[in-house]
Amino acid sequence: MASFKVQTKGFNDIIDITDKTEKIVEDSGVDNGIAMIFVVGSTAGITTIEYEKGVVEDLKEIFEKIAPVKGNYYHEEAWHDGNGFSHVRAAILKPSLTVPIESGKLLLGTWQQVVLVDFDNKPRERKVVVKVV
Ligand code: ZN
Repeated sequence: MASFKVQTKGFNDIIDITDKTEKIVEDSGVDNGIAMIFVVGSTAGITTIEYEKGVVEDLKEIFEKIAPVKGNYYHEEAWHDGNGFSHVRAAILKPSLTVPIESGKLLLGTWQQVVLVDFDNKPRERKVVVKVV
């Protein structure tokens, strides 16, 4: 199983994982197929974005509107870990992404990077699994 680790700061930390994912695809030797990229855990998600400062900030602001840090969450009653917002955001974004592989490379646009978004309320070490078929 191919995977890599990512250190995050939590709180919507958005990290470009395109190069690490691309390396696994190259090492797999698969020329034509799909890569499924999955983050282990219930408070992070994976998507694509144009990885530039403006849109990265825009995405953070939108998540604050959808599930505010200071909102009321039933999860808090169960666990008292203060990260109800993290679980809700992660569920909406989803933990995995599938990207086509063409000529041994991820079929991404020039301004389209694969990113991990860590929604948790503390720094985390994340495990990202990449399945190439
Ligand atoms: Zn929790």
